[in-house]
Amino acid sequence: MSAVTLYAADEEAMLVLGARLAALTEGRGIICLHGDLGAGKTTLSRGIVRGFGHQGAVKSPTFTLVEPYELDDARIFHFDLYRLADPEELEFLGIRDYFAADALCLIEWPQRGAGVLPKADLDITISPHEAGRALLLQPHSARAEAWCAALSAAL
Ligand code: ADP
Ligand code: MG
Repeated sequence: MSAVTLYAADEEAMLVLGARLAALTEGRGIICLHGDLGAGKTTLSRGIVRGFGHQGAVKSPTFTLVEPYELDDARIFHFDLYRLADPEELEFLGIRDYFAADALCLIEWPQRGAGVLPKADLDITISPHEAGRALLLQPHSARAEAWCAALSAAL
């Protein structure tokens, strides 16, 4: 499957990219977000959640590990596993319910849940690029491949 690199020159461009990706997913799938602290993982997540019409805040759910958004056209679960001490803790959260087929899961720091998290449709790695960010998108499913193709075609 072919990887795609996209660029977001500023925070606003990141939000636009998130909203575009949101529309493509139709509210289904598992997206893992990689990158250092401050890379822009939560910003991209905010763009995705707002893409489904959410008007309020979207912050990293650091202490609760997961923040649910029940929206008209999607159920989104936004994870930040930075403070997860042991992947086994995810079992106590009842993660199987979160990864239901009709939900969209966004996961920051997925490596903390290695071995317990299901396989991602898409890995997105965010890194600094000039004054903005580069986003490397690596699809692992047919639907994610289609999302990547559509995003790169729209450039
Ligand atoms: P993370 O969740 O990866 O720790 P955040 O999403 O909280 O990172 O973003 C950290 C900072 O990066 C914020 O101040 C945000 O405004 C900024 N930022 C996000 N995306 C971009 C971008 N494409 N270009 C420049 N700055 C960005
Ligand atoms: Mg974050």
